[in-house]
Amino acid sequence: MTEIDRMLAANRQWLANFPGDLPVAPARGAAVVACMDSRMPLFGMLGLAVGDAHVIRNAGGVVTDDTLRSLAISQHLLGTREVVLVHHTDCGLNKATDAEFADLVERTTGHRPPFAARAFSDVDADVRESMELVRAAPYLLSTEVRGAVYDVATGLLREVKDPAAPHHSQARGGPLQQGQGQESGS
Ligand SMILES: [Zn+2]
Repeated sequence: MTEIDRMLAANRQWLANFPGDLPVAPARGAAVVACMDSRMPLFGMLGLAVGDAHVIRNAGGVVTDDTLRSLAISQHLLGTREVVLVHHTDCGLNKATDAEFADLVERTTGHRPPFAARAFSDVDADVRESMELVRAAPYLLSTEVRGAVYDVATGLLREVKDPAAPHHSQARGGPLQQGQGQESGS
């Protein structure tokens, strides 16, 4: 039995708690952009119920072209306006640099990835950069963009204050922004 078999079987228990059919537009008008880390149960740790918010996840919770695509759909088609970014301590993206990651993939598969890992060492700076990328995206309608760091050792979520928020130029030009297509011309 694989883990996927267990997951498919577990759905039978879920049916007992199923909240019923809900509207497609998130009830609380918010989207969460978060790391894929297995220790962050976003609905529980943010007090969200089924149907409350969109959750967009990837490695690092970084803002990529596809993150912006999802946010644009979330906002224009489904009415959300607030965006919260949730990064965390002990992230997998702290474990190697972009170059080390590319080397590892190339060594293992023979193919060098065309994408950057988007590694980082300062999680607060990474949250600030992500906030800035969302705020700078000209296609969005966000009324509130905030970010936080989740401590996987304690469960505490700490908001990252963003003194640079009104000064876009200050948060730009960081090393992680290389290859950010959505930045050009914005
Ligand atoms: Zn992570």
